[in-house]
Amino acid sequence: MSGYRMMMLGPPGAGKGTQAKRLAQELEIPHVSTGDMLRDAKRRDTELGREAAEYMNAGKLVPDEVVIGIVAERLEQDDAAQGFILDGFPRTRPQAEALTDMGVELEAVINIEVSDEEVVRRLGGRLSCPECGAVYHKEANPPSQDDVCDKCGNRGLVTRDDDRPEAIKQRLASYHRQTAPLVEFYEQRGVLEAIAGEAGPDEVTQEILDRLAD
Ligand code: AMP
Repeated sequence: MSGYRMMMLGPPGAGKGTQAKRLAQELEIPHVSTGDMLRDAKRRDTELGREAAEYMNAGKLVPDEVVIGIVAERLEQDDAAQGFILDGFPRTRPQAEALTDMGVELEAVINIEVSDEEVVRRLGGRLSCPECGAVYHKEANPPSQDDVCDKCGNRGLVTRDDDRPEAIKQRLASYHRQTAPLVEFYEQRGVLEAIAGEAGPDEVTQEILDRLAD
């Protein structure tokens, strides 16, 4: 295994969250998702949650200093000492530099490559459980019982505010403008692993594990 400080890179809907959860379980390290942390703050209606909500609902990135603060705090916790999988962070050049300033040298950056058309198809059909965060797709991965979460039994799956068509467009634009430049940033540091993300989730997981074992 080439290392335990990892990050998932790629456009929204690439499968970063799905893959990060599986890898975290396989490698026994925490999954650190800024999207999940921000959604949790939103749900609990904290000050952070209220501030983040207006950006998130519009499909815009939350300001760097806000996200950098929550990640710095999270990575100081004991369970992150042996490594972690960052998912959705860093998403801008200043965030990547802040991570370096925290003393974190990533050993692998998994870049999941998916076309814009596929992103629109995936996010447009996505259903999320507001209780436990499980995600489904109306056609590709529906829940076994209509509108009921397989994981926690909650009734009432929803389309996330930021999975609405206008927000999807905005998220893709933010990705291309602010996040895609990180591909080169990490390529230059020799840690980038490009993974074709349009295959099924099991194949993608296997490909990532094979690549890490090389
Ligand atoms: P995700 O679940 O990773 O797609 O994140 C959902 C939303 O949370 C994004 O569209 C942003 O509004 C916000 N967000 C998550 N991570 C970051 C980040 N690293 N920087 C800025 N905003 C973020």
